[in-house]
Amino acid sequence: MGRKFFVGGNWKCNGTTDQVDKIVKILNEGQVPPTDVVALWNCCIAEVVVSPPYVFLPVVKSQLRPEFQVAAQNCWVKKGGAFTGEVSAEMLANLGVPWVILGHSERRALLGESNEFVGDKVAYALSQGLKVIACVGETLEQREAGSTMDVVAAQTKAIAEKIKDWSNVVIAYEPVWAIGTGKVATPDQAQEVHASLRDWLKINVSPEVADSTRIIYGGSVTGANCKELAAKPDVDGFLVGGASLKPEFIDIINSAT
Ligand code: PGA
Repeated sequence: MGRKFFVGGNWKCNGTTDQVDKIVKILNEGQVPPTDVVALWNCCIAEVVVSPPYVFLPVVKSQLRPEFQVAAQNCWVKKGGAFTGEVSAEMLANLGVPWVILGHSERRALLGESNEFVGDKVAYALSQGLKVIACVGETLEQREAGSTMDVVAAQTKAIAEKIKDWSNVVIAYEPVWAIGTGKVATPDQAQEVHASLRDWLKINVSPEVADSTRIIYGGSVTGANCKELAAKPDVDGFLVGGASLKPEFIDIINSAT
């Protein structure tokens, strides 16, 4: 079975109740071929997962069309307890939130999350039954220094050292220089890193994991550039920020066809 196309919408720290209502309406009314993740696995075009801020998760989950799923944007690294301001993986599982985004570059850069900390988070979230969108990606400086693959390999290795089962992990390759900048990676740039990451998985984890793990691209994906990116053989979908708040998110989902 081929890798199922995956489209994530990362709303980041955006939205009021009114805006959330509007986005959910757009998603619910969007013309998308069937995407039921279980029954229609073989014929549907994409697995769609949107990630509102924590406080909107229950309302979005209850109002969203059933074939679309929700993700949290983060969770705590271990069991809950005296960790003021944090939300644990157990709480997300208890609420029926199936996915969590971990290791986003904004958290790595602004909140000092190290590769090891992200690896621990991924392992703990998986242990609680969550599925994980694990983000990796290089800064502009690192790309210009020629160390893109070293950086993403080190980020992926820190996860690989902590987990055995990759079946509930999607890797999001998000070059930091492309996030929120309007400077999307070219399809060739994305393909090059995705193919190298898949090789890395093949050598360091297993050929089966390399073959089955979805590697999605994120960074200034829009309705206008998604088709060309989606055509690349190792681009298995997208993690979309800004454009996931707009009607063009539906076009991005449909780029899976
Ligand atoms: P962007 O963000 O699409 O706004 O560049 C992507 C992301 O941060 O996941």
